[in-house]
Amino acid sequence: MSDCIFCKIVNRQLPAEIIYEDNNAVVFKDIIPKAPVHFLIVPKKHIDSINALLPEDKGLMGELFLVAQKIAREKEISGYKLVINVGREGGQLVEHLHIHLLSGKITELP
Ligand code: 5GP
Ligand code: ZN
Repeated sequence: MSDCIFCKIVNRQLPAEIIYEDNNAVVFKDIIPKAPVHFLIVPKKHIDSINALLPEDKGLMGELFLVAQKIAREKEISGYKLVINVGREGGQLVEHLHIHLLSGKITELP
């Protein structure tokens, strides 16, 4: 998706503080953090939202949650929240599926 900001971050066409990358995902810091720890776990594949998931994305979604676990372990984050907003009315502003990883005092829900 050429006009998608998260695709641009994945492709290094836009800057971001990327903290992790593997074959299928990147993780970077949220530009407007809502908690002391606020990362975005983003699949490299463009998927609009949970509503656009296909059966073939089943494995990918599992991988994204394992990435969350890995980041938390590596950064010694013992407690955290994972948030997925779905659709405009669900608070989703960026139409490229992502999981928020938040830890510490949350100032507002993403
Ligand atoms: P959503 O509301 O779609 O669930 O979350 C989108 C998140 O992406 C927001 O928390 C917002 O601060 C973050 N965000 C939006 N644009 C950028 C950007 O260009 N770079 C980074 N790092 N985060 C962004
Ligand atoms: Zn995208």
